[in-house]
Amino acid sequence: MEGPFIKAKPIIVTLMEAGFEAYFVGGSVRDYLLGRSRGDIDIATSALPEDVQSLFDRTIPVGIKHGTVVVLHNQEMYEVTTFRIDGDYQDFRRPSKVEFVTSLEEDLSRRDFTINAIAMDIHGTIIDPFEGQKDLKNKFIQTVGNPDDRFLEDPLRIMRAIRFVSQLDFELSPETKKSIESHANLLTKISVERVLVEFEKLLTGKANEKAIILITELQIQNYLPQLNNKEEELARFAVLCSKQPLTLEEQWTLLIYSLKVEDIEFFFKQWKSSNEKIKTCRLYLNVITELKNCSSLSCYTVYTYGPETVKSGIRLFSLLENKQSNLMLTALQTITRSLPILTRKDMAITGNDLIEWYSKQGGPWLSETIEIVEKAIVDGEVENNKEKIKEWLLTCNPPFENNY
Ligand code: ATP
Ligand code: MG
Repeated sequence: MEGPFIKAKPIIVTLMEAGFEAYFVGGSVRDYLLGRSRGDIDIATSALPEDVQSLFDRTIPVGIKHGTVVVLHNQEMYEVTTFRIDGDYQDFRRPSKVEFVTSLEEDLSRRDFTINAIAMDIHGTIIDPFEGQKDLKNKFIQTVGNPDDRFLEDPLRIMRAIRFVSQLDFELSPETKKSIESHANLLTKISVERVLVEFEKLLTGKANEKAIILITELQIQNYLPQLNNKEEELARFAVLCSKQPLTLEEQWTLLIYSLKVEDIEFFFKQWKSSNEKIKTCRLYLNVITELKNCSSLSCYTVYTYGPETVKSGIRLFSLLENKQSNLMLTALQTITRSLPILTRKDMAITGNDLIEWYSKQGGPWLSETIEIVEKAIVDGEVENNKEKIKEWLLTCNPPFENNY
């Protein structure tokens, strides 16, 4: 057993000493068996949520109705969930009610895929009634039990299956694949928020190309927001998205570009994405457009968007245009190092100086002039020095002579 499990052991010990069963379960056990290290550990127990709350000093009742209590221990958070089976999934939402059960095996049987239905006890002994280890070895995503029943019960599992293909570089088992093909339409019943979580994990998975191609092969795109009938565009995106590791926002930008989305706001609203994400993608798209329109990287672009955003823009631009990014990245480094100012606050003049020099009251001309000076400083046309700026403005900048 490795670090994170050893750190979590005292929680299992406390539960066992109180007479309950407790095991490590879910993604942490799967990833441990695959040699993928991770921090978050989930625990399943026969103890009821109120038992868990009374046994530990610091708990957060995150999902009492579904049996989940977070236990805080040594600066870590552990989800401790009572053995349960799920009741009806009314309206394809999360189960309307759950039933707490006493056996681990029943709890494992409600889990989505065999590889996610493996438990490990405190000594490191694996409990694997659905042969998840075999599927880990064969790299198969396969539902626990009949796939048709399981996808009907909760169609989100369709997206989860594809995201595990992407994250783990696994294949769907033939039965699971066939079942997904015939039930993909059920995805429209699921809330976009739940689909988004899985789709984003899929976008940044190591086998994202394979997963996107699988989406088109199984016609899943027709049931995802804004992707209906976008098979060809997705095929193009699949090739691009896997060429180099990209952040989530970079992947979204690449997708939007590949889809030739016109109304970005509307596209993201359909996905219920955060405003933060929309903003970042917009900035990346602006940088890409600037790079497309200019022959070389300008100092003002680096100043306006900041080196990190421009770096992402360069990466995306070179992917989209099939160009080498090295030269542009080197230019970015040189420009970043030589920028005379990093923000407007670094300018040697203020609006008051301009008001004094021009003997004019404030107005739109003021911010326009500040912007002109700012750009001139960044582009190296004038030194960031009060006297030099005054001289430049009053003698070398004719548009303002009239205002004088
Ligand atoms: P990740 O690495 O993303 O955390 P995970 O397998 O831990 O992957 P979670 O969404 O954290 O995924 O869920 C934890 C466990 O709960 C899963 O391993 C699985 O056993 C079970 N599970 C989660 N979602 C479902 C679902 N929709 N249907 C059935 N079981 C599920
Ligand atoms: Mg998890």
